[in-house]
Amino acid sequence: MERTFVMVKPDGVQRGVIGSIINRFEQKGFKLNAIKLMSIDHALAEEHYRDLRMKPFFGELVDYLTSGSVCAMIWEGPNAVANARALIGKTNPVEASPGTIRGDYAMDVASNIVHGSDSPESARREIGLFFDQELPMNPIMGFMQGEPSAE
Ligand code: UDP
Ligand code: MG
Repeated sequence: MERTFVMVKPDGVQRGVIGSIINRFEQKGFKLNAIKLMSIDHALAEEHYRDLRMKPFFGELVDYLTSGSVCAMIWEGPNAVANARALIGKTNPVEASPGTIRGDYAMDVASNIVHGSDSPESARREIGLFFDQELPMNPIMGFMQGEPSAE
């Protein structure tokens, strides 16, 4: 069982498609563990995307992320990170297949509507940045019940 961090970016919130994006995750089989609407300051945006700080688009990326509210979420499921990336689609919406979120909702790489962690390590780091405390696994799901401990 795995967790990933997903965020509807400001363009998605402004366009009113949070529900549509949540629906895709639910339809796929993910379980929602945490969700909040929030604004991001420059420091958090820079920390979130710190691996990209040398990129020429970094300044614009931080401005974009801080331009309005975002919807931060933790989703759970088997291979949650890779499954979420597949659902979200390629970074550039031009290359994202129809049927993926970016393929269906976005046109431009600079405003590609949604973020998903790129590895389990990134997911842990990003969840720690955006959520104060680790929440127990979603009690509705029962994924944890009867599962042998991995340790
Ligand atoms: N981005 C951009 N221009 C680029 C590449 C990326 O504006 O040429 C933005 C875009 O919003 C992307 C984010 O930077 O989602 C993070 O880039 P990354 O390579 O991590 O892509 P992702 O993991 O979001 O698919
Ligand atoms: Mg990334």
